[in-house]
Amino acid sequence: MPRALITGITGQDGLYLAELLISKGYTVYGLIRGQNNPKIELVRRTVPDVRLVTGDLTDVSSLVRVLSEAQPDEVYNLGAISFVAYSWENAALTTDVTGKGVLNILEATRLYAGDDPASVRFYQASSSEMFGKVQEVPQRESTLLWPRSPYGVAKVFGHYMTINYRESYGMHASSGILFNHESPRRGPEFVTRKVTRAVARIRHGLQDALVMGNLDAQRDWGFAGDYVEAMWLMLQQPHGDDYVVATGETHSIRDLLNAAFDAAGIADWEPHVHQSQEFMRPAEVDLLVGDATKAREVLGWAPKVGFRELVAMMVEADLRDAAAEAR
Ligand code: GDP
Repeated sequence: MPRALITGITGQDGLYLAELLISKGYTVYGLIRGQNNPKIELVRRTVPDVRLVTGDLTDVSSLVRVLSEAQPDEVYNLGAISFVAYSWENAALTTDVTGKGVLNILEATRLYAGDDPASVRFYQASSSEMFGKVQEVPQRESTLLWPRSPYGVAKVFGHYMTINYRESYGMHASSGILFNHESPRRGPEFVTRKVTRAVARIRHGLQDALVMGNLDAQRDWGFAGDYVEAMWLMLQQPHGDDYVVATGETHSIRDLLNAAFDAAGIADWEPHVHQSQEFMRPAEVDLLVGDATKAREVLGWAPKVGFRELVAMMVEADLRDAAAEAR
């Protein structure tokens, strides 16, 4: 039975990836950070077969210990401080975890792999935020990176360090440049979930208004459950490489509001939505749209869930929660 270690097990992608790997017969270890991490219960409930191990991406000695305990064939580095807006307020911490944390786990993996560096397969969760002020439309693997936030800068460091370990040591290390991917498990600080939760609560009379930032930004949103399959496929290839994972479609925040209110049966969203400076960012990523041709041709990967279906899935889940709360 293959063995995998997932960092970031408590996040949306960690949970979907753990479910996928368990369905394929893997023994899955999940890295858990901190004392009394409140998300442990969520992981135990959602994926009870995952074996939890304690460690921290900023502590390389903990990673060395965890790798020797878990003995993984595949390492998926999904752990990060991942909320872009927060990264301006906590730039050094974001750099330590989201950036230098990648170096720490790469180095621990290299030491663990010993004489045969390619014997352990490594996945780095890179991000479309690396494209930032986009230099080409659509964005592909070769597009010049121009990050626009401390988070984006940290992800660029992790991306190039992954390539560097592949080229320097011959590691089987892959970088998945994933465009925004969402699900009912998405954290409520991200715009899709913020909107679908609010829409459901408005529908059930639990709140009146929704306060938003920039409504003109455009994103290429896919379903997280589809995207974790691409991660796994990357590690099944003969060599590590870099792949864009995207739907190739872009929608504005206004489109998101239309789709979400529509899915909840509310025809006109304008009376419910206000804008505030509070949710504007010091620098914005205006437009993201990915070209996943390489993933399609090499990995045979294609997204299954489209934008409206994704938004409807999230609204439905949040309507169930709101109905329970309203009772
Ligand atoms: P990101 O693409 O990783 O930054 O994902 P987010 O879901 O946090 O944000 C997506 C886009 O939505 C960005 O361009 C934000 O500026 C925009 N946006 C507009 N209003 C909001 C808001 O209230 N919250 C968040 N999180 N984003 C917002």
